[in-house]
Amino acid sequence: MFSRELNAHGRAFVNYQALSRVEVKDMTIDGFPAKLFFNPARVRSVMADVSPEALQQRACFLCPDGVEENQLTHNWESPTEHTYYIRVNPFPIFSPHFTVSSSVHERQELLPHLEAMLHLAKELPEMTIFYNGPMCGASAPDHMHFQAVPRHSLPIEDHFSTNYANAILVQESDLQSHLAAVKRVLAMGTIPEEASQTGSLTIGASHAEEYEPRWNIVSWYEPASSPNSLIASSPKFNTIVFFRKESRPMCFFAPEEERILFSPATVEMAGIGIVANRESFDRLTPEKLRDIIREVAEMQYLCRVGTKPTEQISQLTESNN
Ligand SMILES: [Zn+2]
Repeated sequence: MFSRELNAHGRAFVNYQALSRVEVKDMTIDGFPAKLFFNPARVRSVMADVSPEALQQRACFLCPDGVEENQLTHNWESPTEHTYYIRVNPFPIFSPHFTVSSSVHERQELLPHLEAMLHLAKELPEMTIFYNGPMCGASAPDHMHFQAVPRHSLPIEDHFSTNYANAILVQESDLQSHLAAVKRVLAMGTIPEEASQTGSLTIGASHAEEYEPRWNIVSWYEPASSPNSLIASSPKFNTIVFFRKESRPMCFFAPEEERILFSPATVEMAGIGIVANRESFDRLTPEKLRDIIREVAEMQYLCRVGTKPTEQISQLTESNN
């Protein structure tokens, strides 16, 4: 499907060609190997106006009527009995880069689709699946979608670290146990009293008007190694949760001469910074990138969880079994 669409010479073709010319800066931040991409074609995502007024005025680009010309759609029937549209992302960061959107125009909300996300990770073990919350980088917060990119695209997959961003890693071999463990982590982003009152999740007073805690989520599946390999391993689901405090950093709103157009989503929290203009690319040093990621990450959970989140998660898993 991917090569078929690229041969069609639509916008995706042009933008995937441009990917090979993206400038990359390698950065090491407290031992974590981050990267900065200068990708002018991403300007639409970086600058996306996701206010309710702006959303109302544009045609939804994830609904069948709004897709790009030449865009192909593969219908994926999830075992959760929901249909998703898999399409080539016409504004890629990686190659290939897919969007996986609900066949229904419904708001971006993780919990009703989390199980499907894990099934998708299992069906596409060569891909990493991620989710941007409605206030955390999603450029279509009004239409539920995931994205899929090649495994190992995101530094955090192979260099899990809490040095760069605030991250919690959950690992389980069985899909249903993994789903339950991830839900327990996600529940840390709630205020139980409020959640029980409204029936929905809220992360705190400052975001109380929002229907979902601010988070970015990454999931991938590692199949069992073949019995012939030297080190036998069981299959494993992996999910990383980033809790978020701010949607965009202060420097995004700074005066022209110091402005950095940087709008952190999952990809950024996972170690790949994307900027769409030259000035921002030049201004974004490793120190600045680290400070921005810390500024937008929710630090309060670190106080609750301590410095070894994976141990804490295994405790959570045990105490609930
Ligand atoms: Zn839509």
